Amino acid sequence: MSKPKTCIICGELADSAEHIFPAALGGRRTNRRIYCEVHNRLLGKLVTRLQRQLAMMNAALEVRPDREDGPKPFMFESGGAKYKLLGADIELDLPPPFDPKLVGEGGKYPMMATDRETLQRWIAHNQSAEWTFKIEGAGTIQQHIQSERPTIHLNFGGVDFLQSVGYLALTSFAHFFPAQARQAGLDAFKDMLKLDLVANPEHWPAERVWWDGREPSSVVGDNPYEFGHVIAVGFCKTTYRAYAYIS
Ligand SMILES: [Zn+2]
Repeated sequence: MSKPKTCIICGELADSAEHIFPAALGGRRTNRRIYCEVHNRLLGKLVTRLQRQLAMMNAALEVRPDREDGPKPFMFESGGAKYKLLGADIELDLPPPFDPKLVGEGGKYPMMATDRETLQRWIAHNQSAEWTFKIEGAGTIQQHIQSERPTIHLNFGGVDFLQSVGYLALTSFAHFFPAQARQAGLDAFKDMLKLDLVANPEHWPAERVWWDGREPSSVVGDNPYEFGHVIAVGFCKTTYRAYAYIS
C-alpha cells in the first residue's frame, strides 16, 4: 500500500513525522505524515491546551514526555506558598512571601525551607529597597507534617478541551485509515478543529465530540497496560461513519 503524503486538512505536502499521541503527553510513536507544516503548527496549539489541563495528572503519574529526561513536576500555589508535585510527593518550592509582621527580635525572621537554594530564591523574590535578607544559619532538620493540605485548583474540561480531544481522535484515525481520513465526509469534523472556541465557545458543534461517561472497559475492553490512554478508532463500511473513542 502506498502511503499518502498529503495533509489531511488541505492536501498540501505533508513531510513531517508528527507524534500520533502528543509527545508532551508521553507519546512515542510517530505517524505516517498526516499534516503539512502549517496545520501541524496550527493544531499543535490544541495539544498545548491538553498539556496545560492534564499537567497535574501527568506529574502525578510521572509521565515522561518524549525527548525529555524525566517527568515534569506540577507547580501550584496554596496559602501564599509555592509547591511542586511529582509522583506521590509534594514539596515546598517557595515559602510564603515576606511578612514584616513576623520579623522578630534583632531582625530575625524564621523561615522553613528544604535547602539553601530555596532560601536564596526566596530572598531574590522578596528583597526590596526596604528589606534585605541574610542567611544566618540553619537550625536542625525538622520533619514537618502539614496538617492543612495544600489546595490545588484545576480548570478541567470545557468545549476547547473537547476540541483538543477531537484532534487526538482525528490524528489516530488518519494514522490507521489514511485513505478514509482524506475523504470529504470528514470535512465538518476538520472544520470544527479550526474554530476559535476560546473566543467563541458558542460555536461548538456539540454533536461531534462529547463526554461519554461510560467506563472505558465497557466500550473498548480492558487496557492491557497498568495505566495509559486507550484510543479506539474505526470506520463502518455499511454506514460510512468514522468513529473514535478516547478514554
Ligand atoms: Zn495542511
